[in-house]
Amino acid sequence: MFDTHCHLNFSRFKDIASDVVLRAEQSGVKGMLIPGTDFVTSKKAIEIAHNYKNIYVAIGIHPHHAFALQEKGHEGISENIEMLESLITEQKVVAIGEIGLDKHIYLKTKYGIRQVDRELLALQKELLVAQMDLALTYKKSLILHNWEAKEEILAILSNRWDRRFERRSVFHCCEPDMDLLEFAHDHKMFIGVDGDVTYDKKKEEFIKKVPLDSLVLETDSPYLLPEPLRSQKKYPNEPSNLFVIAQYIAKVLSIDVDEIIRKTTENAQILFSLSS
Ligand SMILES: [Zn+2]
Ligand SMILES: [Zn+2]
Repeated sequence: MFDTHCHLNFSRFKDIASDVVLRAEQSGVKGMLIPGTDFVTSKKAIEIAHNYKNIYVAIGIHPHHAFALQEKGHEGISENIEMLESLITEQKVVAIGEIGLDKHIYLKTKYGIRQVDRELLALQKELLVAQMDLALTYKKSLILHNWEAKEEILAILSNRWDRRFERRSVFHCCEPDMDLLEFAHDHKMFIGVDGDVTYDKKKEEFIKKVPLDSLVLETDSPYLLPEPLRSQKKYPNEPSNLFVIAQYIAKVLSIDVDEIIRKTTENAQILFSLSS
C-alpha cells in the first residue's frame, strides 16, 4: 500500500512520528508521501523523509495560506516561490503540493473566520499558477487540492495544462463530481480517495465510476479518520489506517482487496515517478 497524502509533518505528530511510521510499515504500508502546506511544513516533511527510505515529499503552499500573503501580494508569492526553490533539489522531493484553490470558509483557523473574497481568490490563482510552473521547471508531479472551487480550478488547469503533467497529477481528496472525473480522465490524472469514503455516500457512489487505473489511496492523516475508527473516536488518523480504506473500497467495488492494493500502489509509483 502507498499512502499518497499524510501530514506527518503536522504538530499533531510531533514526537510520535517514528511510532506512526513503524505502525504504518507493520500494517503493510510500503510508501508514504508527506505534502507541505507552507514553507515550514515543507521543510519539516523533508526532515522526516530523510530518516526513512520509503517516505517521499511534496513541497508547496496550500491555497489556505494565501491569507498570509495578502499584505505583500505579488511580492509575497515570489518570495515563497524562491523559498520553495531552495528546497526543491533536496532528495525525496518528488512533487509540488499541496497546491490549488479553496473557497471553503473554515471556522477554526489562525486567520479567523474569513470569506474567500475576489481579491484572495485572485491571489490563490496566482500562487497555483506559479507553483505549476515550478513543477514544470523542476520536472515534479502535482498534488492538487480543491475545495468548493471546481470551476475555477478546472479553468486554470485547462489553460495551463502541459502534457508533462499526464500521469503525474492527482486531485487529492477528490470531490465527488463528474466534471472533475471527466477532466481527470481526459488529462490522465489520478483521483485520491480517503477515509471519508467509509461514511460519505456521495463519495462511495463516486468511486464506483473511477477506473482502477486512476485510483490512488490516501489517509490525509491526521484528518478524515475512516469508519469504524471514527465512531470509536480513535484520533488522530494515521497511515496505518490505509488498509481500512482499501478494504472498504474493495467491498464497494466487489474487487479483491489484494488487487486494490496492488493497483493503487502501482498507480502511486507512476504518479510520483518512483521505480518499484
Ligand atoms: Zn487538501
Ligand atoms: Zn492535505
